Amino acid sequence: MQIIRSVDELVGYVAMQKNHHHSIGLVPTMGALHAGHISLVERAVKENDTAIASVFVNPTQFNNPDDLKNYPRTEEEDIRILAQAGVAAVFVPSVEEIYPDGAKPEKVYDLGTAAEVMEGKFRPGHFQGVAQIVSRLFLLARPDRAYFGEKDFQQIAVIRNMVKSEGIEVEIVDCPICRDVDGLALSSRNALLTEEQRSRAPEIYAVLRASVEYSMSHTVAETHAKVVALLDSVPEMRVEYFEIVDASTLLPVEQWDEAERIQGCITVYNGSVRLIDNIRYRPLSSESV
Ligand code: AMP
Repeated sequence: MQIIRSVDELVGYVAMQKNHHHSIGLVPTMGALHAGHISLVERAVKENDTAIASVFVNPTQFNNPDDLKNYPRTEEEDIRILAQAGVAAVFVPSVEEIYPDGAKPEKVYDLGTAAEVMEGKFRPGHFQGVAQIVSRLFLLARPDRAYFGEKDFQQIAVIRNMVKSEGIEVEIVDCPICRDVDGLALSSRNALLTEEQRSRAPEIYAVLRASVEYSMSHTVAETHAKVVALLDSVPEMRVEYFEIVDASTLLPVEQWDEAERIQGCITVYNGSVRLIDNIRYRPLSSESV
């Protein structure tokens, strides 16, 4: 596996792949890799001639300086895991390499209304930062396909909008959420939980799952209230937002028959660690009930 640290080296590597007519699959990550990331990487390896992963903790998408400072960094281990997973090259740039003029917004991306709700509301500037780094990676790595996890459900919709408004030709591939055996969505931030917080964290998915069954005999408003009340009653947990939305627009619904695909998206503070998750309410599937 080639370890690439500079933009010039990446551009040269990609040019060589293109000369050989190799298809490129890109997996952008912020490192501290776990099985969720690896599921994306394995798919990229399988579906492309050349799989490239990037590991970069992008400062412009953090609106909370403490969150950026505390974000886990395990570069050596990440490189080892990626090599084992069959990735052809890993791009591990420094902040200065990506932002020689300083890590700050350079332009305003048109990300549509999907970027204004939920994460967009609670993390101002977050999606602009995501669009900045992802568009940059797309322009440098010129992938045929790029792989993203449904754990960040809203992020996928926003990236699709960015790709359209920027006129970038790339197939966005969404991959299912990987969970621990106890149901907790795998996340690099799980490493920051205390033992007690970790033991309570599976409640998030347990409550979401139970609420799908509850939703069959209750209104959207009742289901919403139930989820928030149950999770807020868990020690150290506080729901930041929970929205039941049309999966295509990400706007809230009031009735279960209002949209073909309805998703519940949640962010919960577990102590000071911010965890996100989501679940499909409609159409009902055997997996969700
Ligand atoms: P991150 O390193 O958190 O920026 O995540 C990099 C990519 O991995 C994003 O597309 C995430 O959605 C995806 N990802 C993170 N956690 C999971 C998970 N538990 N299951 C599937 N994909 C995930």
